[in-house]
Amino acid sequence: MVDAARVRGTLLRLLNMDTPSGREGIAADFLEGELRGMGFLTWRDDAGEVLGGDTGNLLARLEGTAPHAPPLLLNAHMDTVVSTAGLVIREEDGILRASAATLLGVDDKCGVTAILEGVRAALDEGFPRPTLEIAFTVCEETGLWGAKRLDPGTLAARQAYAFDTGKPVGGIVVATPSHNNLAFTVRGMAAHVGMAPERGISAIRIAADAILRMPLGRIDEETTANIGVIEGGTADNIVPDRVECRGEARSHSEEKVERQTRAMVDAFQAAAQAAGGRVEARVERLYTRFSVERGHPLVRRAVEAGRRAGIADPVIRAAGGGSDANVLNLRGLPTVVVGLGYENLFGADERVALADVTQASRIVAELLRLAGMGQ
Ligand SMILES: [Zn+2]
Repeated sequence: MVDAARVRGTLLRLLNMDTPSGREGIAADFLEGELRGMGFLTWRDDAGEVLGGDTGNLLARLEGTAPHAPPLLLNAHMDTVVSTAGLVIREEDGILRASAATLLGVDDKCGVTAILEGVRAALDEGFPRPTLEIAFTVCEETGLWGAKRLDPGTLAARQAYAFDTGKPVGGIVVATPSHNNLAFTVRGMAAHVGMAPERGISAIRIAADAILRMPLGRIDEETTANIGVIEGGTADNIVPDRVECRGEARSHSEEKVERQTRAMVDAFQAAAQAAGGRVEARVERLYTRFSVERGHPLVRRAVEAGRRAGIADPVIRAAGGGSDANVLNLRGLPTVVVGLGYENLFGADERVALADVTQASRIVAELLRLAGMGQ
């Protein structure tokens, strides 16, 4: 049985560890001890060395007791988007908040907690279950780097659940967009504006022209784009010779994200050419879209597990952002993301109800029970 007091204890313990990206070691040590205590074989990969962090991804396996059930991978990430040093947790009516000027760190410590508790409950009950694998990753927040370093060849599972999104608890994310980051360095020609403005080529003007040439905002129902940062220029009286612009393009359609990206690069090139300047464009793929059919066994099982955990009608939805699930899907492991119920992520009033994390833990246990039954 899922134990609400144990959920609270685990979550508080994890929240009180400061684990920004690259410094997840303290959480990995704790989790490794817990998993070994439950009989898991554990190991860490080389993601820590490669990424310059203090631990690699923490991986674990426990052989199954249901003979024909396919192995299942459970995933959550150990890092938080920023340091939560100095965190003071306020607990009121079963809701956790941060009382100091830090985030609480619900993302993704709620996911880690739900996996740990749900697995423990399943093992306590002793029902037949599949071979279980766990991937607690590092550096998710800085670009899914831990997951990108994870070698699926070291895993037996060919399907996964990622516990890494907020409200509603038990909601199932079956699709996310592809996401490109774009960066532009615009180069013009500096000149003293009082003496020889005609010698200057304004990089700011090129950037302005480029931005006006490109489609931005909501492009269509699947596609969005933004230029979010502009930095450049040196003084009031100098024609600016350098501007940096950064932005992004996302779409649930791979073709559209590439078309939008091209449109943004082309707009900068055209504006630079028109003014006699130059531009260097850099495009980085942050993550690639996925879409799992609503009728896929992974989704059906998650819906049924949610119902058994007390959610009348689990929400199935698309999301606007990526997670480790994008990398796992890209690597050939169909993965959906399950919601933990936290709210106001990264905002001033980031909070989570303990009851929601307890319910998410029940979902984990029910997923294992259903998988053990061959569902
Ligand atoms: Zn997350």
